[in-house]
Amino acid sequence: MLFDTHVHLNAEQFNDDLQEVIERAKTEGVSHMVVVGFDRPTITRAIELCEEHEFIHASVGWHPVDAIDMTPEDLDWLRELSAHPKVVALGEMGLDYHWDKSPREIQKDVFRKQIRLAKEVGLPIIIHNRDATADIVEILKEEDAKEVGGIMHCYSGSVETAKECIDMNFYISLGGPVTFKNAKKPKEVAQAVDLDRLLVETDCPYLTPHPYRGKRNEPAYVKLVAEQIAELKGISLEEVAHATSENAKKLFGIK
Ligand SMILES: [Zn+2]
Ligand SMILES: [Zn+2]
Repeated sequence: MLFDTHVHLNAEQFNDDLQEVIERAKTEGVSHMVVVGFDRPTITRAIELCEEHEFIHASVGWHPVDAIDMTPEDLDWLRELSAHPKVVALGEMGLDYHWDKSPREIQKDVFRKQIRLAKEVGLPIIIHNRDATADIVEILKEEDAKEVGGIMHCYSGSVETAKECIDMNFYISLGGPVTFKNAKKPKEVAQAVDLDRLLVETDCPYLTPHPYRGKRNEPAYVKLVAEQIAELKGISLEEVAHATSENAKKLFGIK
C-alpha cells in the first residue's frame, strides 16, 4: 500500500491515457493519492477526479507563481470547496522566487490569506517552496500555521530546516529527486528524518525519478521513491510504504 500525496493527474499531460495511468498505479500498490489543484482549471478538474474515483482525494489552493491572478472571489471559492467531503487539504500554496510572474509581496499576501483560510476551516496545508525557504519559515511562524500543520511538498532543503518544519507540525514529503545520484540533501533528509514524519509523492507529471528521468512522471513511480528511502534507512519497502501511508491518512483525516 502506497500513498502518493501529491499528483497532478488534472494536468493535460494525462488527457489521453488517464485510465491506464491509474491502472498502473494500482498494479504497483498505490492505494491512495491526492490530486492537487492550483488554479481555476486544475482545481475544477481535481474536484471532478475525486468525485469519480474513490481512492482519489483532492487539495485545492492557489500556486504562488499565479498569485497575481487570485481574486477575492477565488478565495471564497476555495472556502466553499473546503467543505467538500473529498477535499482534505488546502494548497499548493507558498512562495516561488524562481519565476517572476507574480511580485514577491503579492505572493506573500496570497500565501498568508490561504493560511488564514486553512485555520478558519481546519484543514492542513500543502507548501510549495522554490528558492524561498527563509521567507516561508518566517510566514509559517508569524501566521501560527502550526495550528493546522501540513506538508512541505517535494522537500529539497537541509536537515536542519526539515526539523524546524517538523516542530511546526509539518510532514516532510520526498519525491523523485531523492532517487537522483547527485541529490545529496534529499538523501540526507531521508536518513535523518524519523519515519513518522515522512511522506512520499511523485508531483507527476514533473520530477520523474531515476531511471525514468526525462520522461513523464506518473503515480506508479512513487514506489521508486519509497524504495530509495527504504534503502537509505536500511529498512524494508513495506515498512516505508506502511508508515508513510499511515502518516498521510492521519494528516488528511482519511480512514
Ligand atoms: Zn509544487
Ligand atoms: Zn505540485
